[in-house]
Amino acid sequence: MIYPIVKYGREVLEKPANPIVEFDGKLEKLVADMFETMYAANGVGLAAPQIGLPLRLSVIDTSVGEDPKARLVLANPVIISMEGEQVQEEGCLSLPDFRAKTPRPERVTVRAQDIRGQEFTMSGEALLARAFCHEIDHLNGKLFIQHVGRLKRESIKRKVRQMMKAGEW
Ligand SMILES: [Zn+2]
Repeated sequence: MIYPIVKYGREVLEKPANPIVEFDGKLEKLVADMFETMYAANGVGLAAPQIGLPLRLSVIDTSVGEDPKARLVLANPVIISMEGEQVQEEGCLSLPDFRAKTPRPERVTVRAQDIRGQEFTMSGEALLARAFCHEIDHLNGKLFIQHVGRLKRESIKRKVRQMMKAGEW
């Protein structure tokens, strides 16, 4: 099932999400639906708050469906180390059509649980490191625009407000 993606402006995107406690069939179904929703939107990551669910759950696939081994499920993820810096254009399915150069660490290690509740740690560089940070931000109620320069952020917010007024958001 493809969920509608919640856009910037909704409260669920700016509140810390709740831990996953049940690793059951319902979670498996939700994860499958999140991958389906993410692929339909051509995203490399999707967090549960983006489909309106305040849960600490995210899916990532930096291959955008090309490589089954790139499919990652992160339940209750935390960043345990980061190093370096990269600055690349970043976007978000909850802020469609807005992109901005966003600083992130170059290398990030996360600890998370998989779909069965098994804990694991994983390191990523470049785009994967960026995706880890972006998705974990979502679970903490943060969006990438909080990492961009103030002028760029204000300009994006202003445009979103205009689109909201015009009923286009
Ligand atoms: Zn996002």
